Amino acid sequence: IFSKLPRVRTTIFTTMGQLAQKHSAINLSQGFPNFEPDPSLIDLVTQAMKQGYNQYAPMAGVMELRETISEKIEQLYGRHYHPESEITVTIGATQAIFTIITAFIGSGDEVIVIKPAYDCYEPAIEVNGGIPVFVQLNNTDFRIDWEVFRSKITPRTKMVIINTPHNPSGTIFTKEDMLELQRSLENTDIIVISDEVYEHITFDGQEHESASKYDGLASRTFVCGSFGKTFHITGWKMGYCAGPAELMYEFRKTHQFNVFSADHAVQKALATYLKEPQHYLGLNQFYQEKRDLFLDGLSTSRFKIKPSQGTYFQLVDFSDIAQEPDEVFAERLVTEHRIASIPITGFNTKGADNHLIRFCFAKTNETLEKATEILRNL
Ligand code: PMP
Ligand code: GLN
Repeated sequence: IFSKLPRVRTTIFTTMGQLAQKHSAINLSQGFPNFEPDPSLIDLVTQAMKQGYNQYAPMAGVMELRETISEKIEQLYGRHYHPESEITVTIGATQAIFTIITAFIGSGDEVIVIKPAYDCYEPAIEVNGGIPVFVQLNNTDFRIDWEVFRSKITPRTKMVIINTPHNPSGTIFTKEDMLELQRSLENTDIIVISDEVYEHITFDGQEHESASKYDGLASRTFVCGSFGKTFHITGWKMGYCAGPAELMYEFRKTHQFNVFSADHAVQKALATYLKEPQHYLGLNQFYQEKRDLFLDGLSTSRFKIKPSQGTYFQLVDFSDIAQEPDEVFAERLVTEHRIASIPITGFNTKGADNHLIRFCFAKTNETLEKATEILRNL
């Protein structure tokens, strides 16, 4: 039958997750914590349900939650987003991203995507008739060449998607990167999606550079966030986007017919929980300890590693262990050694380096220790 996405297959996250299950493997593939969220957050949800928040939430989200998101962004990044007109609560960052692309991208519109890239951007562009235009990050340190970036801008460029901290490389856009982006887009009408779902997971004292901090970016950008990453609740699928009112007005036209609104009780709970900065400001330290435990465990392994600077992912180069494509190596790793990972090919352009696999270290220390014991003997 006719397919709008003929090249798209089941995602690598589903595939590797199923293989992990089949082989009873330690699952370091799909990014999610294998520990529970704060019980008090769960209590807040049940309370909200008992209080009767069981019917549709307002289309753009519970006002109290939008107000809290607005205060948090202003506190951290110094930008005020009006809760009424500039913030919308979504079903995870995925829905925010898909809806933004659907609201603005049509046939022949070009969207610049920085590769390797999280897998949901490209299909969303293509199913709407848009054309993804790739800028490849440098293979060794995953930095961007801004000259190359600028060379990809054409009169048909309608949108740019950035992601910092970056999945899967764990790199972070610096202030200089953000200024380069801002400069590159001057005198254009290009809209930016800034995927900042890992904003609270940065290491070694490095600051997250939100697009909302930059005047020339904030005026054209949808900043996307996810509570799933920040509060260990990926299964609750709750996120948001913030952007200028005139862009958000267009976004909501599509959003209201896409999902209308997100879970009501969870929004009520998050409105209360998000008010306490200690619920998210300790996350850097929490995940830095996990990264360090994981890296210590791998220090005598044959993997070549550049420590992740952010996200809960670590890329490793396995070329001293095996000379085979990443997909083959990842499959052998799960079937023979019972460790599931994500081959970078799932994120990359064809022909790019494929000697890298990604591990998720959002796992209990016990799981990380078990995994590294196996991995350092490969
Ligand atoms: N962007 C990136 C870079 C991600 O890694 C993820 C997912 N894990 C998402 C977006 C989607 O977030 P959500 O689960 O809130 O839809
Ligand atoms: N963002 C998660 C990851 O990168 C996956 C979410 C999904 O399965 N779509 O692992």
